[in-house]
Amino acid sequence: MSCEIKEKDRVGTVNPIFTCQPAGAQFVSIGIKDCIGIVHGGQGCVMFVRLIFSQHFKESFELASSSLHEDGAVFGACGRVEEAVDVLLSRYPDVKVVPIITTCSTEIIGDDVDGVIKKLNEGLLKEKFADREVHLIAMHTPSFVGSMISGYDVAVRDVVRHFAKRENPNDKINLLTGWVNPGDVKELKHLLAEMDIEANVLFEIESFDSPVLPDGSAVSHGNTTIEDLVDTGNALATFALNRYEGNKAAEFLQKKFEIPAVVGPTPIGIRNTDSFLQNLRKVTGKPIPQSLVRERGVALDALADLTHMFLAEKRVAIYGAPDLVIGLAEFCLDLEMKPVLLLLGDDNSKYPNDPRVVALKENVDYDMEIVMNADFWELENRIKNEGLELDLILGHSKGRFISIDYNIPMLRVGFPTYDRAGLYRYPTVGYGGAIWLAEQMANTLFADMEHKKNKEWLLNVW
Ligand code: SF4
Repeated sequence: MSCEIKEKDRVGTVNPIFTCQPAGAQFVSIGIKDCIGIVHGGQGCVMFVRLIFSQHFKESFELASSSLHEDGAVFGACGRVEEAVDVLLSRYPDVKVVPIITTCSTEIIGDDVDGVIKKLNEGLLKEKFADREVHLIAMHTPSFVGSMISGYDVAVRDVVRHFAKRENPNDKINLLTGWVNPGDVKELKHLLAEMDIEANVLFEIESFDSPVLPDGSAVSHGNTTIEDLVDTGNALATFALNRYEGNKAAEFLQKKFEIPAVVGPTPIGIRNTDSFLQNLRKVTGKPIPQSLVRERGVALDALADLTHMFLAEKRVAIYGAPDLVIGLAEFCLDLEMKPVLLLLGDDNSKYPNDPRVVALKENVDYDMEIVMNADFWELENRIKNEGLELDLILGHSKGRFISIDYNIPMLRVGFPTYDRAGLYRYPTVGYGGAIWLAEQMANTLFADMEHKKNKEWLLNVW
């Protein structure tokens, strides 16, 4: 009985769980108001990422490309960045923030993006756009290291580092949500409002669940403003909810402005939400109100209805973003389930020493595997060739064919989830998220019981 953490022992990847670093930087850029990122690379580096964003949120987002071609890939393409900035600013008079996001090809050829930005700041911006506030921010996200998760982390840090200023210290907290859904942001804002805590929510993407308004506007963008970003330097503390998606920015603010960083826990499940609220209480001095005690009670009641009868002992495989996977595994354990396989889709060397992973290793009393740098073959091979038996899969839509092919029920959670309607609208964090997750897992199992005629009569009598 042990929890083993290991690396995928093959060279190469069969069906990756993640996409590459620039995708994370692009997700950050669409969270900023009056911002369009320019991805310095081939058009596909934008096109496919935009497509995933649109598939997941069923909305359209604006991103630009320097549109690298063969000559640029051989001789360098700094000129294309200059041209791209000029065209973008000319066409979009409201744009103020332009991240320049590098890719594998432009990092390999060694394009000096920082140098280009210096040149543009001293030349084009002064000459042609002198009356405009424009911020060009270099984001180095080569795709041959890390993943979209580390790309997100790097980009959040780069944006915060560009803007943060210590001007008028205040009692607000910075809340770095990590790569979440509008439903999560809504839930987090609700918890903060109940605690009467003012927060600078970064990045404010609740608006990705955007309405159709009479003016026919069809493009979505986040609501984090330049003022919000500048104000990060004035905060009382920074809460980075995800260790791998925002921690770098929290560390930067701590180092530069001595703003305390509170990293994690990802508030998935009851105990992690409890810890989050306790941390808020400690930092701000604000008490946890009765309204949240009651919400917690409602969540506990909902979980108690399901746990012993339906969820206990269910064997689960979980894949996706590391903070999400670990948070879900902790929640499953609290529900008496057995997460037997956790797949982390990149090679971050910090995973084995993550205190949550260490705690799993020390406390799990059955066989659990945690595979780093994993791909979908790690899951499929175990099911197909090694006799892995599962009752449930938790993960994003890219793994749907394993669920379909091997007839294993699957709850879509994480990013991207494009083959089920409206999932971005629901939280996985907070007490509301705990209820949603447990009930969706149960409903997924119920549908499977009916489909396979496996004790489906139980559903008549509980
Ligand atoms: S792997 Fe390289 S070429 Fe492919 S999308 Fe990522 S950055 Fe672009």
